[in-house]
Amino acid sequence: MSPTNPRSPRPGAPPHGWADALLALLGLVLPVTCVGCGAPDRAVCPHCRAALAAEPQRRRLVAGVRLDAAFAYRDTVRALVLELKLRGRTDLVPVLAPRFGALVDRALADVPGALLVRVPPSRTSARRRGFDPVVLLLRRAQGAGPAVRARRRSCRAPRGALRRVRPPTPATGLPGPTGHRAHGQKERTALERVEATVGTLRAAHVTGRDVVVVDDVVTTGVTMAEAVRAVRAAGGRVVRCVALAEVEE
Ligand SMILES: [Zn+2]
Repeated sequence: MSPTNPRSPRPGAPPHGWADALLALLGLVLPVTCVGCGAPDRAVCPHCRAALAAEPQRRRLVAGVRLDAAFAYRDTVRALVLELKLRGRTDLVPVLAPRFGALVDRALADVPGALLVRVPPSRTSARRRGFDPVVLLLRRAQGAGPAVRARRRSCRAPRGALRRVRPPTPATGLPGPTGHRAHGQKERTALERVEATVGTLRAAHVTGRDVVVVDDVVTTGVTMAEAVRAVRAAGGRVVRCVALAEVEE
């Protein structure tokens, strides 16, 4: 029996009916090779797992706030994240979750009473995927014991704490950011990226609260910065940002 056969969930794996159904479906097409190096029979082979464990964690500032990232977004990590997000390889969640969860837990331990707020995925990507990778990662990273789990529960932000809104129509003169939708984010100038992002998020229920903002991948940082702006605009204070991976600048 293949250890990655999703029809045979590991003992102790949490029962999530829909996730199991999804995995069963994926099992029909899943390759049984390492995502990192292509070695047969593993989702991620021991060699690649060891290499991941040796990766340095990342830290930078976003809008004046410390961002902790579990990994640099490159090589095996990039392949894992793309397989998870684009191909629904939720069997890779256990590989990525522990370090991400540890950073989130450290942030919540450093700032007692902070709210944990997720940068909402774009509506189209959320609809296309049918699952939220950040939610899966946080749900999985539960090795830390009942006290940490209880703290996480108490830190859960109310629904809609951060949501996407239609961006404001740009002032006259300059071409509006919506005119650039056909371009990938990388093709935009830095200014265009910021212009296109400001006002796209709105926060609620965070007034007077300390907030830890989480996201999966931080690329340019403009989306995370917009989350920080939105929380501040709603009267909250962002004390830490945490990402699964960040793109080196
Ligand atoms: Zn490998």
